[in-house]
Amino acid sequence: MSLTAGVIAVQGDVEEHTAAIERAARAHDREVTVHEIRNAGLVPDCDLLAMPGGESTTISRLLHSEGIAAEIRAHVDAGKPLLATCAGLIVASSDAADDRVEELGLLDVTVERNAFGRQKDSFEAPLDVAGLDEPYPAVFIRAPAIDDVGDATVLASWDGRPVAVKQGSVVGTAFHPELTPDSRIHGLAFFENDDATLPALEETA
Ligand code: GLN
Repeated sequence: MSLTAGVIAVQGDVEEHTAAIERAARAHDREVTVHEIRNAGLVPDCDLLAMPGGESTTISRLLHSEGIAAEIRAHVDAGKPLLATCAGLIVASSDAADDRVEELGLLDVTVERNAFGRQKDSFEAPLDVAGLDEPYPAVFIRAPAIDDVGDATVLASWDGRPVAVKQGSVVGTAFHPELTPDSRIHGLAFFENDDATLPALEETA
């Protein structure tokens, strides 16, 4: 039997996250079955969750209207790992400085949407990330920056601004770790996260 993963699939890079979770699991000798989450009812069965980028206003509205928001909160309350990327980070934050975003408050951070300016709409940067030996090739697309980091820990910064944070079982990145073949961020969030609980190998055997 394998771990059960969920990719929130109301919008965004669902297939890419699925593939990245599968690669990270293989690298950690774990088996995983990934489900796409579009409705309430599936999240409670998931051992780990990814919340992709997209448009944070749309994602937060759909998560609440579909009843998935409360399930994601319960998932995190239970100490299970969540990786929230780009718009996913905005939705997971406690303050997105935008009335159209209904934040989940899972990361004690303030974010600024589209913070890196027009000329830098999209760029790739070699990022030093706490917990990784080599720089991570981070792809930023209309990315948010993180302004106030309350109880969260900064894992990486770019241009002097935090772009990856961790708080308990939740990891948030302003960039898109699903868009490169390098699955180390998924590995860090799900399989090397000391603050998160995953069923032990023998429990799933
Ligand atoms: N700019 C988007 C937002 O503010 C996020 C972009 C992304 O997820 N690539 O919601």
